[in-house]
Amino acid sequence: MALYAELHRHLGGSVVPRVLWRYFERHAKDLISRFAEYPEFEEFYTRPRNTLDEYLELHTLVESVQTVETLPYFIYRLLRGAYIFENLAYLELRYTPYLRTPEHLDQGARIDKMTEIVDIVGKSSHLPEYPIVTSQILCMHSRLPYEVNKAIVDLAAQNREYVCAIDVAGGDRYYAERMEEWISLYNYAHSLDIKTTGHLYETTDGCYPVLLPYLMRIGHGIQIPLLYPELLKDVAQRGQCLEVCPTTYLKTGTLQDIRQLKLVFDRCFEAGVDIAICTDNAGLHNMRLPFEYENLLTYDIINFAQLQACQDAAFRHAFAWPYTQRPASLLNGLLKPEADKMLAM
Ligand SMILES: [Zn+2]
Repeated sequence: MALYAELHRHLGGSVVPRVLWRYFERHAKDLISRFAEYPEFEEFYTRPRNTLDEYLELHTLVESVQTVETLPYFIYRLLRGAYIFENLAYLELRYTPYLRTPEHLDQGARIDKMTEIVDIVGKSSHLPEYPIVTSQILCMHSRLPYEVNKAIVDLAAQNREYVCAIDVAGGDRYYAERMEEWISLYNYAHSLDIKTTGHLYETTDGCYPVLLPYLMRIGHGIQIPLLYPELLKDVAQRGQCLEVCPTTYLKTGTLQDIRQLKLVFDRCFEAGVDIAICTDNAGLHNMRLPFEYENLLTYDIINFAQLQACQDAAFRHAFAWPYTQRPASLLNGLLKPEADKMLAM
């Protein structure tokens, strides 16, 4: 039985349109008054955007309803779907805790409130009926001030039970003007022994070689094999894994055709760079991880052996998977004696 690891999923983008619609219908009708029926809303919510910036705008819609009170509601549905429909054994969920705190509070009070958010996400993610190993990645944000981002690193250090790593998100074109800050924040994270990933080389605006060495995994990174294949040798040497999220690039206008990803996979396999296939914003995309896998096979971007290599890589590069093996090997041990018995009958 194949069980999967998902390394790159945003809490904001993980709410499937139907769940969000039901929530609005019950609690915030004004937010959907401009849509006559559900299909119009789904069309609006999931349609491709022209740029990464436009695409990220949608996150604010969901962030506005993900509060201390509602997070358990959304996370319950997220884990239920992930367990039932996606066969996930492991899930790293990422988000910017600051953006789930009440907007009317001042910065200091919002920073203080972040602890509560991490706690609620952690507790809500533990559901005995849907047993998935989960952990959180806290995202620093390219539009938030240094003090807030530093507090996010501190928060990760103080909540190791629930948090496995930090990330930077919010639009990669904005990193350039504060590059010194990002480097010092990543250095700070390493000094606290916190694991690291970061949205980098996602679009052509986000190519910053100077930041690369600070990341243990690379959020997207597809522009490395596409535009700067000469960097792959170093990426392989550092043991960095690319978190490739196929549907995203079509939704953000980064790629025009999914088949453009063939070059990404081919060059990475050739250079010995691991890839974990991920969904990024499964809800926004109306997508589930097994369909991402299937799509890549259907379009001949990868073959079955390569798919399995990527699935293995996901567990190997998982920041908080507590076992040395994939769940398949663990399950085989459990299931095989039965299979032997059946053969003997
Ligand atoms: Zn992402």
